[in-house]
This record gives sequence, structure tokens and C-alpha cells, in this order.
Amino acid sequence: MNQFEQMAELLLPHIDKEPEYYETLYPERNLPEGARVVRIAPSPTGYLHLGTLFMALVNRITADSTGGIFYTRIEDTDKKREIEGGIDDIINGLLQFGINIDEGYVTPTEQQGIYAPYKQSLRGEIYQCYVKKLIKEGLAYPCFCTAEELEAVREKQEAEKIRTGYHGEYAIHRNITFEEAKALIDEGKPYVVRLKSPGSEENRIFFDDGIKGKIEMPENDEDIVLLKSDGIPTYHFAHAVDDHLMRTTHVIRGDEWISSVPKHIQLFRLLGFKPPKYCHVAPIMKLDNGAKRKISKRKDPEAAVHYFAEEGYEAKSVIEYLMTVASSEFEDWRRANPDGSYKKFKFNLKKMSVSGALFDNDKLNDVSKNIVSKMNSDEVVEKLTAWAKTYDEEFYAVLTKDLDYTKSVFAIDRDCPKPRKDIAKWNEAKQYSAYFYNQYFAPEREYPENILKEDIKAFLSEYVNVYSDKDTKEEWFGRIKSLCEPLGFAADTKEYKANKEAYKGSAGDLSTILRIAVTGRRNTPDLWSIMQVLGYDECKNRILDALGEI
Ligand code: GLU
Repeated sequence: MNQFEQMAELLLPHIDKEPEYYETLYPERNLPEGARVVRIAPSPTGYLHLGTLFMALVNRITADSTGGIFYTRIEDTDKKREIEGGIDDIINGLLQFGINIDEGYVTPTEQQGIYAPYKQSLRGEIYQCYVKKLIKEGLAYPCFCTAEELEAVREKQEAEKIRTGYHGEYAIHRNITFEEAKALIDEGKPYVVRLKSPGSEENRIFFDDGIKGKIEMPENDEDIVLLKSDGIPTYHFAHAVDDHLMRTTHVIRGDEWISSVPKHIQLFRLLGFKPPKYCHVAPIMKLDNGAKRKISKRKDPEAAVHYFAEEGYEAKSVIEYLMTVASSEFEDWRRANPDGSYKKFKFNLKKMSVSGALFDNDKLNDVSKNIVSKMNSDEVVEKLTAWAKTYDEEFYAVLTKDLDYTKSVFAIDRDCPKPRKDIAKWNEAKQYSAYFYNQYFAPEREYPENILKEDIKAFLSEYVNVYSDKDTKEEWFGRIKSLCEPLGFAADTKEYKANKEAYKGSAGDLSTILRIAVTGRRNTPDLWSIMQVLGYDECKNRILDALGEI
């Protein structure tokens, strides 16, 4: 055995498999030409946030558009930062948003696929096998530096105005011998395993990012840590081993990783692996006092995906909106395919924004209103009550007290060819429907200023006598019109417009007065339908109340 082989046996005596074992166990995938194998690799260190959801969507549609595979891998090597329930939240969250998973953790507890295990903490021996190979080849070594020693190196570099880091002559243990290492290990000294980087800062690496295009960077010359002192790999090393063995073709991830690409490409090469195609996605941005910044978990409620459920956005609306962020071509496609599943959209990574799209709440609301407007009233009531049950119990009780009534409330201007686009999220429904429920009906009636109080009074007092809930919509409006002439209003809009001075107002003004009397609002869906739903007694009482106020 040479020095390096002795070192490998000293550090990893329990590893008896050769890399070939894993190469055979995890064979190349047999997929059609062009099919992309992609993944998200979340760390369970927090709850599902918008960035992860967006990344999952981009990966999912990349797989869908190429007949490929989308899998999940749990990167749980940082046990200190792990939170309880993190995996459940992320995987269940994706499923709730309709992002189906082909392989890996398909549910929080169930793994599927032959490249298992899909959780890094279960893959310790695999990483160690590849580290052993690098040690044998003289490409990795144990480093016994303490935190204080590393700090001292750093201070020295700062004083000498040299780039900080564990590289070149500053890499204290890079030439450690077997005997030296053995003596320190016998003393019980902890150590990490580092890469012996053959790179030089003078050299450049080039790669063609699938989103950002051609990129050039200095080669990595840092002796990065491969295995931490507890034998657990770092992200960089685990990424190379896992994405190789799981046969990932495209690594689509956040662009905060772009500066790590030189390390990653170097690791792939030294390990004898073909690097994947890297595609770095710009983060979703937010406007903050006129300046663009990354959406922040700390500052922005919408960064946590729970926010959307709490507000009562349909998962479908959020996904539809994120599709518009993912591709500027999506909206045109949607116009041509108004009812098709977004999964049919041919997604092209190259068309993604290089600098990061802005999170646009108004756009989300528009997209969402459109989606809600396509639901029939049963669907609306079902989803609204399901939302209220969790997030607004009191409203839930109000809505479900008389479900048929609630259905008729939400059927107004719905279930028709041109439904109103009025609700974006369920937490708007209470305000929207408040005048249908006496618990919430507290009108502040503000009549148009151009109509005199006495005319309002005269109209409502006449109307209450002629009002009938048996009228068709035409008859109902006919009655309002018939009151026009005696009260000095124009029954005909054209005539009114031509001759405004001759009238106190028009039939339109009178229906506005009625609308305000009955609902307390100036803008509502169709008033005849509203009065039908409220019923004769309620409408009459409200008109009498309104009269009493004047
Ligand atoms: N575990 C990494 C993260 O949470 C994954 C990055 C990647 O996709 O390679 O960001």
C-alpha cells in the first residue's frame, strides 16, 4: 500500500465497497433522447417558501415538457438547523399545490425509485466511499485545524491582503503524511476531510448556464471540506455524488449557488463524473421603496407559502401566477388555451428572466379572479366554506347556517357565460357578501350628491308600495322606470343625456338609490338578483330603514 492508500484505510477502514458498486447499483437511466432528469433538493430547515415552490414548479414543468423525471431529495446534513415537521411541510406543500413528484420522497414518509435512499442522512457510506477513492488518489486529506488555527490563518491573510480561505500554502495540512495523521488520530484529535484542490486562481473555467448563458470564473483552488468531523458530507460534495448517482441531467437551482459552480465542476471532474447542465434561476424580487430586492423570509409575509392558504388563494391561482413569472410566453399560450392544464405548456428554460421577476400582487389577484370566475357556484361555496372552516370559524358558522341561501348568494352573476371577476381570495368573501348576512350588514348609506334628499325619500316611499318579488328582471326595472316621470326623472337614458337640464336625474340614478338603500353600497352585482336572494320582507325592511334615516 502506498501512503495515500494507507491514509484511506486509516480514515475510512469500514468502507469496503468500491465506487463501481454504486455505479452498477444506480445505473444510467433509460429515457428517451432529450428527457431531462431534474430535482429539488430542499433542506428541512424551514417551512415551504415561495422560492422553493417556484423552483419546484420550474423543475416540474421542465420534466413535463421533455418527458423526463422530477424527483425530490432531502438534504438533511445540517442537523442543527433542521426544524421538526420541515419535510412534511415541504413535501405536503408541493402536493397541495398540485406539484406531483415522480420519484424520491413522493410523500413525507414514502420514498419511490431505485436511486434510494433519497435522504442524505441515509447515504453516509456512499459519500465516504467516494471520499475514500479521492484519498487513495492523493486528492483528499485529513485536516486537523482547530477553529482558532483557521481564524489565525484568516487574520494572517487579511494582514497580508491575500484572499482568505484554505488554499495553497495556507492549507496547513495539505501535505500531511500518513504517520503524522495517525499520531494525531491516536491522540483522539478531531478532523475533517478536505479536497486537495489541483486548481489555480490563474486559470478560468467556462460553462454554459441553461438560463444565464456563457459564464467564466476563476478555477477553484480552495481545499474545501468534503466530510465534516462527524463524517457527514458538505453540501458541495453531497451534491456531486448524489446528482451523479441519481443521474440528474439538469441542476435547476437558485442563483445563489452560481459562485459555487467552479467547486462543483471541479468535484465532478476529479470524481470522474460528467457534470450536469447547470441552470441558475434568479430569485423572485420585491419592490421596496422603489428598490428591487430578493423576497425575504423575514420581511415579506408572502415568502412563506402558508400565507397564500391563509389569505384564501386557491393553489391553482398561485401556480398559474408563478407560471407567468417562469415564462413570458405563458400568457400568450394561456390566451390560446384558456382551459388547458398548464402542464401542457412547452416550457423553455432559456426564456426565463436572467435578473429576477418582481412579485406582483395585483397580477396574482387578476390571475386569481379569473380562475375563481370560472368556478361554478357550488365549487365556490365548497372551497369558501372549506377555507372559512380553518381560517374564520365565525364566518364559517354564518355561511353554513343556511347553505342553500349561501349558494344562492354566490350564484349571483356566476353560472353564466360572462361571470363577474370579483373574488381573488376567500378572505375577501366576507366583505363582498356582508350585506347578505344581517350579522355583518351595517350600512352607511351615501346617496349620490346630485339627487336631493326629498327626491330620494319620495322615490323610496313610492317604490316600497309597488315593489314585488314576483317580478321578472324586466318587470322590476319597468317599475322603477314607471316612477320616473311622476318624480321628474327621465325613464330613457338617451333622452336624459340629450336633455339633462329638464330632469332631476335618470332611471339609473333611481336604481342606484335603491341599490344603496338595500345593500348599503354603490357597486354590487345585479341588484334584481340580490333582491331575489334577500327576499321580499328583508328588502322591504331595508327600504323602510333607509327611509327612516333620511
Ligand atoms: N439543499 C440546497 C438548498 O436547500 C439545494 C440546492 C440545490 O438545488 O442544489 O438550497
